[in-house]
Amino acid sequence: MKNWSGLEKWNPSEILFPESEEAIQKIVKSAVDKKQKIRIIGSGHSFTKLCVTNDILISLDKYQGLVQVDKLTNQATVKGGTKLKKLGEILHAEGLAMENLGDIDAQSIAGTISTGTHGTGADFGTISTQVRAIRFVNGLGEIVECSTENNVELFKAAQVSLGGLGIITQVTLQCLPSYKLKMVYKKSSLTEVLKNYKSINQATRNFELYWMPYTDAVLTKKANVTNEEVDKIGIGSFFQEYILENLGFKIFCELAHYFPSKNRWVSEVSAKTLSTVVKRAYSHNIYATVRAVRFNEMEYNIPVEAYEEVMKEIQSSFEENEFKVHFPIENRFVKGDDIYLSPAFGRDSAYIACHVYSKKKHEAYFQKMEDIFKAHEGRPHWGKLHTRNANELLELYPKMPYFLKHRDEQDPNQIFISPYLKSLLGIL
Ligand SMILES: Cc1cc2nc3c(=O)[nH]c(=O)nc-3n(C[C@H](O)[C@H](O)[C@H](O)COP(=O)(O)OP(=O)(O)OC[C@H]3O[C@@H](n4cnc5c(N)ncnc54)[C@H](O)[C@@H]3O)c2cc1C
Repeated sequence: MKNWSGLEKWNPSEILFPESEEAIQKIVKSAVDKKQKIRIIGSGHSFTKLCVTNDILISLDKYQGLVQVDKLTNQATVKGGTKLKKLGEILHAEGLAMENLGDIDAQSIAGTISTGTHGTGADFGTISTQVRAIRFVNGLGEIVECSTENNVELFKAAQVSLGGLGIITQVTLQCLPSYKLKMVYKKSSLTEVLKNYKSINQATRNFELYWMPYTDAVLTKKANVTNEEVDKIGIGSFFQEYILENLGFKIFCELAHYFPSKNRWVSEVSAKTLSTVVKRAYSHNIYATVRAVRFNEMEYNIPVEAYEEVMKEIQSSFEENEFKVHFPIENRFVKGDDIYLSPAFGRDSAYIACHVYSKKKHEAYFQKMEDIFKAHEGRPHWGKLHTRNANELLELYPKMPYFLKHRDEQDPNQIFISPYLKSLLGIL
């Protein structure tokens, strides 16, 4: 097995693909009897060791699809293994859509919420905040249900649970009636954005930006609901997205890999080529972009009040350190929530993400970036690279003890605990 970026490689003793909840329960009960451990994998898109195990690995790839839709409340219940792309299509066929999404749709819904995956939009929380109920198989093989109405405290533990509480078999989502978005990509400057990001967020449903290192240039992405006709997907848009954006970018990555002194140049040239692009589509077809170039990533959540200062420190750090990096730095905005292990717990947030081409070393650069995030109460994205230890995380997550209490109750034999999770959460 390996994760999406190829950084983690491991050999589970067994990989199982159950097709029913009963089969999942059976696997868990047998693992308890045989004192085996279980890790669950969604699409393997996390950069950290979350899915790594030498023991049993369970995939719900054969446990996908719609369970039920409630047209009165616009809530839909889907199986835990359902991939986001398929989920978007299923919901659209029912006249529904997710309120918000991240920038790819390859993940499973259970894997997505388990690490606190988020999109952008100052009025929207992480994707876990769209969940209204969760059903899972706990470490005793029992089926457990929790929701915003029942077992509320357990629900807050289950909304972001790192595969440590149980195997999520069903997720009920609060959806919106289908809607179209108009997304405008436009060149701007970091100076301008840092001055005006609050008013831009007020006027824009989903606002994010990519800062081009060593320059003042940014590519802004602004999406608002529209009634305009959706674009026809033709050969032109295919050429733009797959060939120009991905193949062209891959060539730049290779160039900067073999000629490290060219990183600054690549970033400056990329900044010059930024142009205005407008896309109109149903929401599930617009959030996700193609990511054909593999990279490793660190992403931190910081209180939104610290955003301007953190970006200025990052800019200075690039000038001081001349990192051999040209990948743009992504900035997004997310509303605070009350989920125990959510990086956005208790605060409206900005997310800042740094990427490095997967063939290159990322450690020194990420360390410098992490030092900046740490100084501003940064909380790492659970699915992305970081070096924080259990004591630090305990300080950053005031509700961590509550999560651990529910975890212990649901999995007293620790069958969902791997060495990585043990050290991450300080479990004895
Ligand atoms: C190219 C790329 C783009 C990305 N874009 C974004 C983005 O826009 N926003 C963002 O926030 N993140 C983003 N991520 C990170 C990604 O969304 C998270 O790492 C997410 O958790 C991956 O989902 P997955 O299905 O691959 O889960 P995996 O990585 O396979 O697993 C993640 C966690 O979920 C657990 N899990 C999986 N299935 C279950 C289940 N059924 N029951 C219980 N636990 C389960 C696993 O044990 C593990 O702990 C991106 C990653 C990549 C590689």
